[in-house]
Amino acid sequence: MITLDLGIILMVFVSGPLLLIGLLALFYNLRSKHRPMRERENIYLCAECGHVYAFARNRPMDRCPRCGCLNEAVRT
Ligand SMILES: [Zn+2]
Repeated sequence: MITLDLGIILMVFVSGPLLLIGLLALFYNLRSKHRPMRERENIYLCAECGHVYAFARNRPMDRCPRCGCLNEAVRT
């Protein structure tokens, strides 16, 4: 019969799920970085000059590169 130490059994039951969750987190983090740039862009329509522009930064508002007016994202 194989005798196992209680400490080893506990370590396997705790570190196994932790390792699995860690690997899943790493996988989803890498997958989100490889999303196409177009999906990460916010599109803005300038209320002052009508200029349409896009930024990949995750901000609710951004400045128009043409006139400097602050605009809300039309599509996120
Ligand atoms: Zn503008």
